[in-house]
Amino acid sequence: MNRFLLTSAFLLVAVPAAFAVEQAPPGWPQLPPKAPVSAVKLVEPHLHVNRAGKGAPRIALTFDACMGKTDPRILSTLIEQRIPATIFVTARWLRTNPDALAAFLAHPDLFELENHGQNHIPAVDIPTKVYGIAAAGSPQAVAQEVKGGADAMLAAGIPQPRWFRGATAKYSLSAIAEIRGMGYRIAGYSVNGDSGSLLPAKLVEKQYASARDGDVIISHINQPTHAAGEGVAASILALKAKGVQFVRLQDIPEQGDDDTTN
Ligand SMILES: [Zn+2]
Repeated sequence: MNRFLLTSAFLLVAVPAAFAVEQAPPGWPQLPPKAPVSAVKLVEPHLHVNRAGKGAPRIALTFDACMGKTDPRILSTLIEQRIPATIFVTARWLRTNPDALAAFLAHPDLFELENHGQNHIPAVDIPTKVYGIAAAGSPQAVAQEVKGGADAMLAAGIPQPRWFRGATAKYSLSAIAEIRGMGYRIAGYSVNGDSGSLLPAKLVEKQYASARDGDVIISHINQPTHAAGEGVAASILALKAKGVQFVRLQDIPEQGDDDTTN
C-alpha cells in the first residue's frame, strides 16, 4: 500500500512537471525538438603501443597540459631521470607556460609535443556537455579546436603535431573521422594514471603499478597544487626501478580503438 501511494504521488508530480518543460505555453511558437543528452553516443578509445614481448615491458607515458601551470615535481623527474614522454599541450597552456615549454624544447630527445587543442573544448561535433564542459558542438568548431591548437604550437616553435587528444578524451565517432581526415592519429590511453589529477597520491601509484607491457598511461602535468602529481613523480621512479622501457608515441607502432589510428 505504501509503495502504491508513493508511486502515485511521484506520477502526479512528475508528469505535469515534464509537460511544463517540454511544451510551449498556449500561443507561443512550437519549441524545436531537442535530442536527449543520452542520444549522443561518445566513445573513449583505448590506445596501446606494440608490446615488447620478451624483456623489459614497454610503456608510453603521456601527459596532458590542459591549461593553468606546470607541475615541477613531474617535469624535473622526467628530465633528471631522462624519461621520454609525450606531452599534449593546448594553445591556452602555451600562452602561460613559456619556461616549461622551453624546458620541453631543450630536450627533444626526451619530449614529443602533441596537440591537445586550442581552448580545451571536447572534440564532439554535436551540442552536448562532457563532465559539465560544453562540447565544440559542430564539425566547424571541432576543426577550429584542432587547427587552433596546431597553429599555436607551430607559432611557438614546436614541430608539426601528428597526434591529437581532445579535452576529456571523449569523442563522437563522426568527430574522430573528421580529425583523422585532418591527418591526425587520435591518442586514447589504456591506464588512467590520475583521473584528471584528482586522485590521492597513493591511488595514483596503484594505477601506475597496474601498467603492463604495451600500456599507454594518461596523467596531467598542469596541476602543481594537487596531491596526484606527487604520486605521478613517485610512480615514474617506481616504473624505472622495475626496468620499464619508456617510449613516445612517435617512436613505436600502436593500436587504437574506434579507428583512431592506422
Ligand atoms: Zn586536458
